[in-house]
Amino acid sequence: MTSRADAAQRAARLRQQLDRANHAYYVLDAPEVTDAEYDRLFRELQAIESESPELRTADSPTQRVGALAATALARYTHRRPMLSLANAFSPEELTAWEERNARLASAVRAGGYTAEVKIDGAAVSLTYERGRLVVGATRGNGIIGEEITANLRTISDVPLTLKGGDVPALMEVRGEVYLPYESFRRVNATREAEGEPLFANPRNAASGGLRMLDPALTRKRRLRIFVYALEVLEGRSPLRTQSEVLGQLDAWGFPVEPHHRRFDTLEQVQDAMPEFEALLEELPFQADGIVVKVDRLALQAELGVVGGREPRWAVARKFAPEVAVTRVNDILINVGRTGALNPWAALEPVEIGGVTVSAATLHNEDLIAQKDIRIGDMVEVIRAGEVIPQVVGPLREKRTGGERVFAMPDRCPACGTPAERPADEAMRYCPNATCPGRVLEAIVHFASRGAMDIRGLGYERVRQLLDAGLIRDVADLYSLSSAQLVELDRFAEQSAEQLVRAIEASKTQPLSLLLFGIGIRHVGKTVALLLARRFGTMPALMHATEQQINDVPGVGGAIAEAVVSFFHEAHNRKLIERLERAGLNLTEPRAVQSGGPLEGKTYVLTGTLPTLTRAAAAELIERAGGRVGGSVSRKTDAVVAGDEAGSKLEKAQQLGVEVIDETELLRRAGADA
Ligand code: NAD
Repeated sequence: MTSRADAAQRAARLRQQLDRANHAYYVLDAPEVTDAEYDRLFRELQAIESESPELRTADSPTQRVGALAATALARYTHRRPMLSLANAFSPEELTAWEERNARLASAVRAGGYTAEVKIDGAAVSLTYERGRLVVGATRGNGIIGEEITANLRTISDVPLTLKGGDVPALMEVRGEVYLPYESFRRVNATREAEGEPLFANPRNAASGGLRMLDPALTRKRRLRIFVYALEVLEGRSPLRTQSEVLGQLDAWGFPVEPHHRRFDTLEQVQDAMPEFEALLEELPFQADGIVVKVDRLALQAELGVVGGREPRWAVARKFAPEVAVTRVNDILINVGRTGALNPWAALEPVEIGGVTVSAATLHNEDLIAQKDIRIGDMVEVIRAGEVIPQVVGPLREKRTGGERVFAMPDRCPACGTPAERPADEAMRYCPNATCPGRVLEAIVHFASRGAMDIRGLGYERVRQLLDAGLIRDVADLYSLSSAQLVELDRFAEQSAEQLVRAIEASKTQPLSLLLFGIGIRHVGKTVALLLARRFGTMPALMHATEQQINDVPGVGGAIAEAVVSFFHEAHNRKLIERLERAGLNLTEPRAVQSGGPLEGKTYVLTGTLPTLTRAAAAELIERAGGRVGGSVSRKTDAVVAGDEAGSKLEKAQQLGVEVIDETELLRRAGADA
């Protein structure tokens, strides 16, 4: 028997673990533990709290929905709360769910159920006024979300105007934005090429994509949506059941996941579960269960909500993920470009769901200690549609006594410099900017497509240049000559010259890409752009105080601290000085310039242009003195349309606004020479 004090202590520990997991999952879009494990901890806490209600705190994760990320997006207060769902992990739990409901409303047993695929994405709400989309938002903490209307409009599945005349005056439709596996693989391949961290699963990629500050970036991710709920806010609704709701949503032109079925009894639902479980494996997107709902809306209203968190009338039937047991042969450290020492498990190769897995990330030392994973342990590894395999935990009963507790090294394994651990972080870092482990990663990142875009400079070539002693850091790239390169293996005169030209061309990249390229901790592409736009030049940013940086919308305290401490280091300042001397551009183009060929003109961009990214096209227009409009009106001078141009093109045609292509834009902006 555990004493009350033990229970209180355990509850506090669980809350702490869940809070941390929530932050990683909802705020950072980078989960540290598997969903199955999260659910296990959550249930343990629920069990303690229901046994000893006095241990339940108001801010317990069991009483809340999701988390609201620190965001540069506008906040949006939901008209009606957006809820989470209770889980049932076995047929017995599903039966128990019906029994609880039947005690509150006996008609439940005879009212019928719907079963729907539980799409694993990010929940959104879409508000329609007289059949037109007016606002869209993320779930956030269920009460307050983020306003993401412009981003949702880029998802081609989202109907902007509904079909049919019988649409309520004001209504909210809820659904799940998701990323099909195929697009997920494409997004991660691009991120890999650009030296950005990979998404652990499609859900996190979808959620991140939805919350971009630039809708053009959301569009690029090619998100999709399925809707499953309707809240009529004004006007009468003739709908009586969830099945009718799904039919009506479909008739209005919304995508509705097609495998939903209606059953008269829960027994029939139970019988269909093996079929549903098999179906989940075959879907082209990640689905993490089946949602069973009381079909009749009147009964749903009668059953209501429990704890402000989940409706009583719906439950998510979840299935066990694919698990394999294997040995941790070693725990090794990979030194990342920012110096982060990333521990990972070298596993005895094992097949999980048709894929051979021989490595799994371990995230950080706290997590290894928390799970008590030792070298030599037999561990459970899962891959639940999640591309990066995760270690669930050790099988303690299989220990032989020969296992070794892992200790994070005090020194960087690549260069021996004492590692640092910032006060509120779980990661240790190698602070040595010249560490060979970091340098390789850092130069490859600097040259990557998303940063300085030096074509032809990947891992192999960077390694070759480092080994030959021709470069030690990114600034050295700018003094390479083709004469030096042709001396090396696999360099012909032409390829040597091409590389030197590509390096030369990178000098004109804007400050934002240079900032991203030099690899300041926490400074990703978006933050780099925010900083470059706010401060304009490298010297201005270098002289900014932590407070001034912190004041930039979308930039938080940890980022400000990292930026200031980066420029505080003498060798980093020296590096910038050398880059400047090499002739690199240290400024961000001003948003609007006067006297350019497009002065006073407003252009709107739509679709994918053949060569320019959305950001590059916008920059071109602004540099030429023009303005980039968000929507088409009579005041728009021209719409620049590319592939898959959507409603903006239609609007332009309706209003008789001129439509031009990329070549014409380049000509008008004076950039076609
Ligand atoms: P949830 O994802 O388990 O269920 C609720 C959500 O399901 C709804 O908000 C809705 O968006 C979605 N949904 C999909 N299809 C639906 C349908 N047909 N009908 C109704 N709803 C549908 O709950 P949650 O609150 O979003 O998140 C909790 C879950 O997230 C946990 O159970 C866990 O699996 C995962 N999680 C994991 C971590 C981690 O660290 N790995 C951290 C936090 C949460």
